[in-house]
Amino acid sequence: MSQPTSNDQYDVIVIGAGPGGYVCAIRAAQLGLRTACVERRETLGGTCLNIGCIPSKALLQSSELFVEAHGHLATHGVKVGKVSLDLPQMMAHKGSVVEANVQGVEFLFKKNRIDWLKGSGRILDRSSVAVTDAAGNASTYTTGAIVIATGSDTTSLRDVEIDEERIVSSTGALDFSRVPKRMIVVGGGYIGLEMGSVWQRLGAEVTVVEYLDRILPGMDGEVSRHMQRILAKQGLDFRTSSKVTAARRTKNGVKLTVAPAYAAEGEGEELETDILLVSIGRQAYTDGLGLEALGVALDERGRVLIDARFQTTVPGIYAIGDVVAGPMLAHKAEDDGIAVAEILAGQAGHVNYEAVPSVVYTFPEAAEVGRNEEQLKEAGVDYRAGRFPFQANGRARAMGVTDGFVKILADAVTDRVLGVQIVGPEAGTMIAEAALAIEFAATAEDLARTSHAHPTLPEALREAALAVHKRPLHL
Ligand code: FAD
Repeated sequence: MSQPTSNDQYDVIVIGAGPGGYVCAIRAAQLGLRTACVERRETLGGTCLNIGCIPSKALLQSSELFVEAHGHLATHGVKVGKVSLDLPQMMAHKGSVVEANVQGVEFLFKKNRIDWLKGSGRILDRSSVAVTDAAGNASTYTTGAIVIATGSDTTSLRDVEIDEERIVSSTGALDFSRVPKRMIVVGGGYIGLEMGSVWQRLGAEVTVVEYLDRILPGMDGEVSRHMQRILAKQGLDFRTSSKVTAARRTKNGVKLTVAPAYAAEGEGEELETDILLVSIGRQAYTDGLGLEALGVALDERGRVLIDARFQTTVPGIYAIGDVVAGPMLAHKAEDDGIAVAEILAGQAGHVNYEAVPSVVYTFPEAAEVGRNEEQLKEAGVDYRAGRFPFQANGRARAMGVTDGFVKILADAVTDRVLGVQIVGPEAGTMIAEAALAIEFAATAEDLARTSHAHPTLPEALREAALAVHKRPLHL
């Protein structure tokens, strides 16, 4: 792709080529806007494609196959010889998956005639962006609108330095050259559980330390209790209501102090581990954009403040994805990106955040969309819950994976589906039907009357919808 000249005039310049930024750029170009996207990383795709969703799912998939080959295949009457791990090959597979994806985005940029402005973007004013390339050369581009899509970065623990060797973020945990013997994960959110699962499956002793009294905070309580029980059965050790108060690197590992969540300073137990993975969340990333000088306001957590049309406090400058409030998820960033591009093209771009699913890609998976029981209770909504266990689903039995359930929460008066939670095999795939139901304002009865192919896992969704009306067929 030829590098555009400094005199170029764009309708929109997007800063950041993660799933928010690159999708926004594609949609803007589809709508006929002259579009450029600034990205300083050597490849497009942002956190998600390079060091997030895609490489972590590649390792989850590979490590799941390793576990299957070790034991589960025998249950199906498939005998394999001695199973051993070829970690370099597993990493090479992950690398090739990432490469295919990032190259795919580059192809899409070319196809849609989007200019990739390589370098770091700084907003000079509401209609110009300076881009400084790796060699330090700066060019200025003018534009009708600017979209900030600079994403997020790892949050570290106070006084703990991440070296990506022994004390790592998720980025380091995607790249070990050998399986650690012991690994402590700080944070029982989805990233900690996914990375913890990968290395536990490959042979590490993994302990998850979580400040709250449950893992997966924010998800439905029943889901998180169920997940903790299943993952503990698989071998993950959990220390909930606990905090890591100090950690320092030693010659061969990390010494850390773990204390009860409400303990006073100085208390706690000293532990040693080979690897400490810090996954306590991510924070919006706005460094170097020059927002303060422009008067673009941030909230108390450093996220860019936007109105209902994604516009910041400075007209003409918009923001989307992880850098603004809301779930830090790739598909939410994409949805934001599409909506803002449509708004810039004069359309009514909109995102229904009630219908944005979230998925934990452990085994089994956990997925939910809409509101959970705690949220409905807090809001005083009268609801009915229908549950169906995979134990009673023929396909799950055939697969030999019966742990988990589907739960549907429907309005007690209107029967409208308000939330769906799934723990089970392929929960992340099945939640799409539930998201569609919420998007289309379906009732539990609509789901129950929809024909579901037999024998499939989604039949459990239909049964849970029937259970809302206390008439499941197979329970
Ligand atoms: P990002 O993807 O963070 O992209 C921002 C881009 O902006 C980066 O490439 C950065 O280099 C660039 N940038 C920043 N500042 C500048 C600048 N000044 N100039 C030029 N470029 C700049 N989400 C899911 O939905 N599903 C998952 O399974 C999932 N798994 C994850 C696993 C891990 C280990 C991690 C870390 C995250 C995961 N996420 C997942 C979260 C997901 O990656 C993020 O929600 C998503 O990437 C946010 O997209 P974004 O476009 O807002 O920002």
